[in-house]
Amino acid sequence: MRKKLAAGNWKMNGLRASLSEVEALIAAHPSPSCEVLLCPPATLIAAMAQAADGKIFVGAQDCHMAGSGAHTGDISAAMIADAGAGHAILGHSERRADHGEDDAMVRAKTEAALSGGLVAVVCVGETEAQRDAGETLDVIDSQLTGSLPDHATAANTVIAYEPVWAIGTGRTPTLEQIAEVHDFMRKTLTARFGAEADGMRLLYGGSVKPSNAAEIFATSNVDGALVGGASLKAADFGAIIAAL
Ligand code: 13P
Repeated sequence: MRKKLAAGNWKMNGLRASLSEVEALIAAHPSPSCEVLLCPPATLIAAMAQAADGKIFVGAQDCHMAGSGAHTGDISAAMIADAGAGHAILGHSERRADHGEDDAMVRAKTEAALSGGLVAVVCVGETEAQRDAGETLDVIDSQLTGSLPDHATAANTVIAYEPVWAIGTGRTPTLEQIAEVHDFMRKTLTARFGAEADGMRLLYGGSVKPSNAAEIFATSNVDGALVGGASLKAADFGAIIAAL
């Protein structure tokens, strides 16, 4: 039985004052039935981990592929763990687009995260042009194949399906489209990882909000969500957690 996961990606949002949202979230949901993960900007990881007090998981939004060295502005898996986080998002479409990350880089970063003992949340998703061209499943297949290391397991890897055109737009795929991709991902992962794939959590991400969370969570092979904008406020994210 896969444990559901509500993950929040704060992206480049949040100052120390925003940690009051974490405190409010924990106070409102002291024992959620799902796992809860928040990934703040790197500047807030240590303070959020302290505020979370072990009650929710805290993660990073990226992780460099090297352990240390001359990489100005980057952070390594060991630094993320040292700051108190246990997870890292890898291959988010904003990093693929803004920082030129391709599948090989995402795979190398994921390997570094796993070697450092972090749980990797690896993101895949098609652009609108790719969907319109009927390429969605091919894109997902090649991103999964290229981005995941061979030693990915149910315990150390979570997949997030985030259609690029649904991120921050208020638009979501139909439930049938979400089910089609999630069922396909399960099949693809099973072909590569065997029985281990049964336990891998598959999150949906892209314009998840309190009003659509329940129906998305009831969709085939959806084990939770990766939430952007609606994870910033305790009331919204709490309602999504309650829907799980
Ligand atoms: P929104 O929920 O704001 O659409 O963002 C989704 C996302 O990119 C999470 O990683």
